[in-house]
Amino acid sequence: MAIVRFTKQRQAVLEVVRGSTEHPDAAHVFDAVKQIVPSISLGTVYRSLEALVQEGHLIQVQQPGQATRYDARLEDHAHFMCDACGEVFDVLIELPDLVGLVSAKLEGFGVKEARVEFHGTCRRCKHSN
Ligand SMILES: [Zn+2]
Ligand SMILES: [Zn+2]
Repeated sequence: MAIVRFTKQRQAVLEVVRGSTEHPDAAHVFDAVKQIVPSISLGTVYRSLEALVQEGHLIQVQQPGQATRYDARLEDHAHFMCDACGEVFDVLIELPDLVGLVSAKLEGFGVKEARVEFHGTCRRCKHSN
């Protein structure tokens, strides 16, 4: 296996996302990473995030109408998205082999991954109205 060498900046970006459970977007990562590497630019943060996704260290979480968020949890899990505040929560449940099930249905397709999303209202928003 090749030894992966990170620049200090990329390492700091990865650390920030790993240290958060909130699935931060690039702007939030930028704010936090500036505490570690004050000279970092937003452009570098974007490029680092992109490279870390490419290399399989992070996954992207997309929500319509919102900036892309990043997640350092690589094990299989689902997301719960609060429609009121937009927060993204990890749902650690064992998922069936969805890729296998769908591959069996879609003969000849290359099914790569499954993303499971739940929508509704988080605890905080549910109690505030
Ligand atoms: Zn909420
Ligand atoms: Zn997650």
